[in-house]
Amino acid sequence: MTYLASPTRYDSMKYNRTGNSGLLLPAISLGLWHNFGGVDTFENGRAMLRRAFDLGITHFDLANNYGPPPGSAEEMFGTILKTDFKPYRDELVISSKAGYHMWDGPYGEWGSKKYLIASLDQSLKRMGLDYVDIFYSHRPDPNTPLEETMRALDQIVRQGKALYVGISSYNAEQTAKAIEILEELGTPMLIHQPSYSMLNRWIEEDGLQDVLEENKIGSIAFCPLQQGLLTNKYLGGVPKDSRAAKSTGALGEDQVTEEVITKIQKLNRIAEDRQQSLAQMALAWVLRDGKVTSALIGASRVSQIEDNVAALNNLSFTTEELTQIDQILNS
Ligand code: NDP
Repeated sequence: MTYLASPTRYDSMKYNRTGNSGLLLPAISLGLWHNFGGVDTFENGRAMLRRAFDLGITHFDLANNYGPPPGSAEEMFGTILKTDFKPYRDELVISSKAGYHMWDGPYGEWGSKKYLIASLDQSLKRMGLDYVDIFYSHRPDPNTPLEETMRALDQIVRQGKALYVGISSYNAEQTAKAIEILEELGTPMLIHQPSYSMLNRWIEEDGLQDVLEENKIGSIAFCPLQQGLLTNKYLGGVPKDSRAAKSTGALGEDQVTEEVITKIQKLNRIAEDRQQSLAQMALAWVLRDGKVTSALIGASRVSQIEDNVAALNNLSFTTEELTQIDQILNS
């Protein structure tokens, strides 16, 4: 059936400014790492994208290697762009990345100019796009000069193949240098994409969050639900229909330990007192102090997207709640 976007799609979503740029991002964005690949059900992915956009989620995050097989999430997204979202291209912020293994030989991963430029050209073809809105260096490359990787990002913007650039999973020190190089080249860094959740606070400890704040760079937190651990899914162990139970998922059953289950059960009690689902509280927590521009969720079904967007109804925490949460996380 032809898709017509909901006329109410902008009524309730919150949009945050990305650093000191002109770009606003929805407080909740949707990533296509899992559940949109060639092994997944096409119509389910399509339904999730439609519902997300109808709820005001204007930002979809991809990467060259998302699938499986690698590249298939971009192909699937390209098909849906063509059939469903063509009239809405200018209402969307589409991102892609290169950094992880994509093809054989010495030029198929990491951070060389050779790899980044070729990979983005492939991504654009798969998605049927002239440009992406944001292009990322997906991970730091210990063997390529940072200047080369940043020059490649600058060139990509100058060629009109991306409007903005960002980096992902670089630490505080690497990020500070990358910001400086990009600034000198005249293509300011828009955004950093780190992992961040109640169960993974490295960006606070490493100083990355401070570097981003000082330089007014945006941040989009990936795996804010710790791949589903911070939801009501695993309160009683590993259910069959979960990422941890799937052979294609990146969450191993061995990560669902007794210790984690005890913590999430305690966190769930606080969420219940706040009249939120655990997923909603976990997202509110990531967005609690305005330091994170957007929480980048994944989903395996439409109802999860609905549940997650409703987190925006209560983003504030009392000092007591935050203390209780810290105590649970540190126990
Ligand atoms: P999340 O931490 O949000 O986990 C998503 C999973 O949690 C879903 O697939 C689903 O699992 C479960 N879930 C989501 N909402 C609910 C809910 N309301 N109730 C119950 N369960 C729920 O994020 P992802 O790990 O999926 O990562 C999100 C995005 O971040 C990726 O798609 C990608 O764009 C980006 N990313 C970037 C990386 C990088 O290196 N830059 C690395 C990893 C991710 P289930 O399938 O079990 O139902």
